[in-house]
Amino acid sequence: MTNDVQQAITLLQNAKHICILTGAGISAESGIPTFRDKQTGLWENFRAEDLASIDAFERDPKMVWSWYQWRRNLVKDKQPNPAHHALASLQQWGKTQGKTLSLITQNVDDLHEQAGSQVTHLHGHLWKNKCSQCDAAYQGEIDYSQDALVNCPECEAYIRPDIVWFGEMLPSGAWQYAEQASADCDVFISIGTSSLVYPAAGLSQLAKSQGAKLIEINLHPTHNPLIDVVLASKAGEVLPTLSAALL
Ligand code: NAD
Ligand code: ZN
Repeated sequence: MTNDVQQAITLLQNAKHICILTGAGISAESGIPTFRDKQTGLWENFRAEDLASIDAFERDPKMVWSWYQWRRNLVKDKQPNPAHHALASLQQWGKTQGKTLSLITQNVDDLHEQAGSQVTHLHGHLWKNKCSQCDAAYQGEIDYSQDALVNCPECEAYIRPDIVWFGEMLPSGAWQYAEQASADCDVFISIGTSSLVYPAAGLSQLAKSQGAKLIEINLHPTHNPLIDVVLASKAGEVLPTLSAALL
């Protein structure tokens, strides 16, 4: 076991409240590409940022909806990997130890839930939809095999994915929970996130400013000087090591 892994284990053993923020990198080993990976096939000439905004949807709703239908098809058969499972085990372990483990994700997939974790989604859910106009949740079935636009039964406007797009506010309940957990924790772990997209990227700074130790798990670490312990490995390898040592 390396010195860094040992340091992380000691921090987690001593912590009462652990806050964990995950990003696209934790789902990479499940076969879901991260945002900085090249888009594949049909979408390779588009930047994700240009498809995930209300402006893009207003300009060309069909194109944006088609992109999400494509992503849904990409994600629908994917399963949690050892990183998701290890976090679920750590959350259970925390309960037996009188520790709180707050798990917050920027991901819109549901692999944390599938692994059995309780998780707060900051950026919405790939499988939920709402009206682009009146904001009503859309409960109808969506046929993922085709990309025809769907209309709101209340106001006829187009249905969109219930995902936080660039320039939009985060859901207030989820954001409040994340801020509180970050401010209260003794250890904050960032996993598989490039920490470029705010406000989520500011949570580790908030934790640090309140005295927490920061751990980063990333295949290509961010070189943020605030981080105390960097584990430069695949999440699906290092998290099972941590959970095996702690459990
Ligand atoms: P990201 O793609 O920016 O970063 C992924 C990180 O994971 C990278 O730092 C990479 O080094 C790391 N990584 C890759 N494989 C790993 C592995 N096996 N183990 C550990 N780390 C690994 O993703 P992000 O940081 O989650 O992006 C933040 C948010 O930005 C997203 O939640 C999303 O809301 C938003 N975003 C959205 C879009 C979109 O919807 N179209 C596009 C860009 C960003
Ligand atoms: Zn509506």
